[in-house]
Amino acid sequence: MIRISKVSKLDGIKSWSLVARDTCPGSINPETGLLVPACAGCYAAYGNYRYPNVMAPRVENREDWKRHEWVTDMVAALEGEEYFRWFDSGDMYDARLAWKIYDVMRLTPSTKHWLPTRMAKFAKFAEVIDLMRDLPNVSVRFSSDSVNGEYTQSAHGSTIYNPEKAVPETATPCRAYQNKGKCSGCRACWDKSVAVIAYPAHGRVMLSKIKKAA
Ligand code: SF4
Repeated sequence: MIRISKVSKLDGIKSWSLVARDTCPGSINPETGLLVPACAGCYAAYGNYRYPNVMAPRVENREDWKRHEWVTDMVAALEGEEYFRWFDSGDMYDARLAWKIYDVMRLTPSTKHWLPTRMAKFAKFAEVIDLMRDLPNVSVRFSSDSVNGEYTQSAHGSTIYNPEKAVPETATPCRAYQNKGKCSGCRACWDKSVAVIAYPAHGRVMLSKIKKAA
């Protein structure tokens, strides 16, 4: 069964998600075995995201995508949706899932897809990510590990910065938190002409991580 949720921040745009960290191999620094800074304060690992009713569909989705009919069912679920976000929480941890997501994207050309990910760190995802990025209706954004606004990749992406400091040069700031935490019509994350988006750190855990790192 397809379980998609509405994301209130994104003006109610729908998302298909998994459990944060359980499905985020890119969240771990392979040299230290520790969470990278951006994931140490991940909003989706705390608070409401731990409530049983929020966790349940994310846990079930981890098995559901393996169904043969999943692509067809997702395509049907996206009918009429102008925008869609993959992974309000979690990541496309399995290359077989990534190929299925690619099929959903190419079979729904009227829907604009935004897919944030850290899976580009793993070579086996390179081909499918390149194909996704070639689709005109898809914005794949590589998530920086930094919470200091750094972004070192050549592809489109996003980073987190300390709201007490200046917006990183060359990045487009997310203004949702000046609009009561809502996108309020902004669709920059889906816009392929916007290279890097900078999100101000927010939430108690993330802000305390930034304070400790300062
Ligand atoms: S940059 Fe725009 S679209 Fe992206 S999260 Fe912020 S307000 Fe929403």
